[in-house]
Amino acid sequence: MKGQLPPKQPDAGPADAPRFFARRPFDYAGAALDRGQILRLQGARNDEKLTRLGYVAAVESDATTYTCAECGATFIDIATRSGHGQTRHRARALTPGEEDAHEERQEALLAQVAPLYLDKAAGAAP
Ligand SMILES: [Zn+2]
Repeated sequence: MKGQLPPKQPDAGPADAPRFFARRPFDYAGAALDRGQILRLQGARNDEKLTRLGYVAAVESDATTYTCAECGATFIDIATRSGHGQTRHRARALTPGEEDAHEERQEALLAQVAPLYLDKAAGAAP
């Protein structure tokens, strides 16, 4: 801890609200979520769309989660917590070339492990 307030944590909600995890990075309730990050849906208008399109998936109520030592965010597994740490708490800034390569790897990974359910988007053929 560096004596500053931790960032707003979207998983801090009513203890009985079901937990979800982000299948891919997206912004929710003013917080930028990383892949694997735990959140509680807060009854926003688009919540239904998040599950339908595959941005989030439910977390078992007894699932073990992993907390980031730097900022307190919680994750569904160690791999996604490590990915978050490498992205958010990196010791030095990336060069523009490294940044591009990193983004390309991220997009290729997401397309493979967490594709959106675009067939379920509004307007898609039934
Ligand atoms: Zn963190």
